[in-house]
Amino acid sequence: MNLGKRLYDLQQLDLRLEKTAETLSRVERELDHNEALEKAKSDLEAIQKDQAALQDTQRAAEHAVDDLQAKLKPIQQKLLSGSVTNPKELGAMQQQANQLKGHVREEEDKVLDMMGQAEALQKAAAAKAAEVDSIEREWAGKRNQLQAEQAELMATLDSDRLTRNEILGQIDPDYLQLYEKLRQKKQGSAVAKIEQGRCQGCKITIPVSELTQARAGELVQCGSCSRVLCVP
Ligand SMILES: [Zn+2]
Repeated sequence: MNLGKRLYDLQQLDLRLEKTAETLSRVERELDHNEALEKAKSDLEAIQKDQAALQDTQRAAEHAVDDLQAKLKPIQQKLLSGSVTNPKELGAMQQQANQLKGHVREEEDKVLDMMGQAEALQKAAAAKAAEVDSIEREWAGKRNQLQAEQAELMATLDSDRLTRNEILGQIDPDYLQLYEKLRQKKQGSAVAKIEQGRCQGCKITIPVSELTQARAGELVQCGSCSRVLCVP
């Protein structure tokens, strides 16, 4: 059994496991967070809030028109009835009626203005709702794709983990301990290949005697970077 090669294979598997786990967590993050959809939905909610607020203000202005007209009506009736003959009193009543009419016009203008705003908001809400729909439709397809990717990644992880356990069962625990220790120290690169007589971890030339040992399948560590050496 070539120990260096076996540990090198374990390292390749561990790197693959890490990469798969990273990709899986990216896919899962994507699956439970669609920024564009959340943004469009919150924009729609904001427009709907504006619509409700405008409706309240419009209703208040309409009430104000009703109230003013209720005050105006008896004055106008009195004026028309001819029952008031005193010119001073008539003048005062006429002035009051004119003032009220002015207020009515102001409030009616406000109502008209708000009706225009309501129409604009209605259009904006419809456009935003259509955008939400379209993103949701697109998202449904994308979500299926992501879920398929997720299932595939999970299956790869499961099968790689099984393979890892099998490999672990075939290696002496002392060597595994050394491998794990080096893996932590060397950012995942515990085993280095020997190419053209050099350790590929640190590029130093390996003495012939150690090269021979490694070729014989023994566990040899690089004298410079301590990585386990593997003869390809
Ligand atoms: Zn080295």
